[in-house]
Amino acid sequence: MSALSQLALPHIPALAAYTPGLQPTEDGWVKLNTNESPYPPSPRVAEAVARAMGKDGASLRLYPPPTSAALRERVASVNGHGLRAENVIIGNGSDDLLNLVARVFCGGKSPLGFTMPSYSLYPVLVAIQDGAAEVIEFGRDMKLPVEKIAASKAKAFVLTSPNAPTGVAFPNTELERVLQSFGGLLVVDEAYAPFAGENAVPLLAKYPRLLVTRTLSKAHALAGIRVGYALGHPEIIALLDRVRDSYNVSALSQVAAIAALGDGAYYAGTIAKTKATRDAALAHYTRLGWFTYPSQTNFIFTEPRDARGETGPAVARSLYEFFLTQKILVRHFAGHPLTAGFLRISVGTDADMAAVNNAIASWHTTNAPRP
Ligand SMILES: *Cc1c(COP(=O)(O)O)cnc(C)c1O
Repeated sequence: MSALSQLALPHIPALAAYTPGLQPTEDGWVKLNTNESPYPPSPRVAEAVARAMGKDGASLRLYPPPTSAALRERVASVNGHGLRAENVIIGNGSDDLLNLVARVFCGGKSPLGFTMPSYSLYPVLVAIQDGAAEVIEFGRDMKLPVEKIAASKAKAFVLTSPNAPTGVAFPNTELERVLQSFGGLLVVDEAYAPFAGENAVPLLAKYPRLLVTRTLSKAHALAGIRVGYALGHPEIIALLDRVRDSYNVSALSQVAAIAALGDGAYYAGTIAKTKATRDAALAHYTRLGWFTYPSQTNFIFTEPRDARGETGPAVARSLYEFFLTQKILVRHFAGHPLTAGFLRISVGTDADMAAVNNAIASWHTTNAPRP
């Protein structure tokens, strides 16, 4: 380690930083690796941003509204269930909010709980806090380990529902069993809720120890503006607010998010298209004989089978690499035994998914046993 790195707190040079999905800069890729929307955001977004800029960008001289007050009102009203602005905090993406959760609840002797496999940011947030993780492993059936979470001594436990990278959703009846038995704060990361049949928002009124996080990066096609929000009891929101950067969300991002959340009809259309494309792709992989988890998200987690009928980490790797030669980007999570034999494929347009299906057919031809 160089002398400069030795100046840092010792846990910083030692930690494994988050690895984002590749973001190629040249055109021509079928990009199905980070669950972005294949459709543009509501046309109201660009109009609102242009208007908010003012002539020659004059409005940009000013700092943004520090607590995103107007956006919090909009978030509360679109989510209904009696929510008010005091139940809402806005983040620079939902990653920002998860970071606030770690700052408030994880460190010293206070571990952060989460399940595995899940969103790979959680262990990184723990490492930044120099904290401890309490990890509960899923089985291959991906059923929610309710009793194990209930027995957890963590002050906060993060659960992704629907889960990533599997796509499997946990019903509210199961979440309620956790909420009734676990003594800490249950954080349900609902990045993919708009694609799911159910969400935990209706439970907020009954369970003060529930926090729900959402993002505009996926269903709202706004990954570039970095806006997420959390819904919860005002006392929990106030704790998170204490450690938030004062101007954590840019002025244009706030305006864009308000416009997007005001156009539910537009997003109902793009979400319905994505779900239809997802279900068709899932049916295709199942017909190929590939084990595929039921998805309530905008991605599919499937276990490829090569032309010899083999599965496993080397087969998944081989298809991942074949896809790259076809300029198709997906995600391979090689680091966990329950994910290493699978690929996660974001749901694109019907044309994107046809390109994937054609590539799979060519891959099968290239590795078919010789007659
Ligand atoms: C994409 C994703 C996020 C991050 O959302 P941002 O708002 O873009 O930071 C959070 N949690 C899960 C599970 C995700 O897949």
